[in-house]
Amino acid sequence: MKIAVIGAGIAGNVAAYHLAREHEVTIFEAGSHLGGHTHTHEVEQAGRRYSVDTGFIVFNDWTYPNFIRLLDELGVASQPSNMGFSVRDERSGLEYSGSTLDTLFAQRRNLLRPSFWRMLRDILRFNREAPALLARPGDDLTLGDYLAENGYSHGFVEHYIVPMGAAIWSTDPQNLLRFPARYFVRFFHNHGLLSVDDRPQWRVICGGSARYVEALTTVFRDRVRLKLALRGKRLGFSLAEIRELFELYDVSRGEHQQLEEFLTRLERRRADLEQQREDIEVMLREIDFFANQCRRRLRGEPDGGNPSVAA
Ligand SMILES: Cc1cc2nc3c(=O)[nH]c(=O)nc-3n(C[C@H](O)[C@H](O)[C@H](O)COP(=O)(O)OP(=O)(O)OC[C@H]3O[C@@H](n4cnc5c(N)ncnc54)[C@H](O)[C@@H]3O)c2cc1C
Repeated sequence: MKIAVIGAGIAGNVAAYHLAREHEVTIFEAGSHLGGHTHTHEVEQAGRRYSVDTGFIVFNDWTYPNFIRLLDELGVASQPSNMGFSVRDERSGLEYSGSTLDTLFAQRRNLLRPSFWRMLRDILRFNREAPALLARPGDDLTLGDYLAENGYSHGFVEHYIVPMGAAIWSTDPQNLLRFPARYFVRFFHNHGLLSVDDRPQWRVICGGSARYVEALTTVFRDRVRLKLALRGKRLGFSLAEIRELFELYDVSRGEHQQLEEFLTRLERRRADLEQQREDIEVMLREIDFFANQCRRRLRGEPDGGNPSVAA
């Protein structure tokens, strides 16, 4: 069967990788590279080459069993890495890193700062109490509401939970407090972020994440169409997409049904465009009418007629 996969991120690539064993797969990707958020940049610095991952970087030995199996199957090597967390607040000048006691109190004055100690106590309390949320299905409390209801300190919110979450999801700090609290806590729980010592081993792909994308896409590499964004049924397709999809279906292979469905979609698209043409014609008549009214007024003449008469 001929199958079109839309999007060459990990989801599309893995689907294409498995389907390509028995089917003829074509993968359509809006961007200009394979891998979606997996994007490795080759950088040269002082005569040395570095592979820098800007999207997907790390995985761990707790929550990625299928990904690890896939890497083994592809023969792609990985190596241990560590995940650090550091904060620097430009407004207050506060600075700390969670790696060791020495870096936690890198600014020795924090040893005497009650708000800093309160933040540390709140971290331990959050780690202890937040998992209770997971046993409350259907609870749609936001993270911000949960923290306010439970009296977490300003320091804990501003210098720990918000920067930590914003870094993980690469998101605006303000958005983070609108996250559903249970989703947030489940992620922290699954990734061992609610524990100070019991944490998974983080790993990175040797040579950059692009190495697994190369291995994963070898089989269908010649069937990848980059810079081609497919649009859904409701939006209809572009001319380029119509041409691509037309080439996919072959009656001599018995693909009548697919061709018929494609024809139905073409007819729907045509009807949509026809409707749009009518809407545009009505709009053009309205615009002409009101443009004429403007000209009349500018000439000091009375308004004339109404839009429906003009139509
Ligand atoms: C900055 C950043 C860092 C991250 N770091 C990690 C990490 O270290 N570890 C981790 O586990 N996860 C990480 N993630 C999350 C991880 O990258 C995503 O969960 C994963 O990439 C999602 O894969 P996906 O295939 O669903 O989507 P994507 O990777 O987003 O791929 C979707 C692809 O579909 C294409 N597409 C969309 N619509 C169309 C269309 N209509 N037609 C054609 N193509 C289309 C897009 O261009 C894109 O290439 C990170 C995410 C970001 C943003």
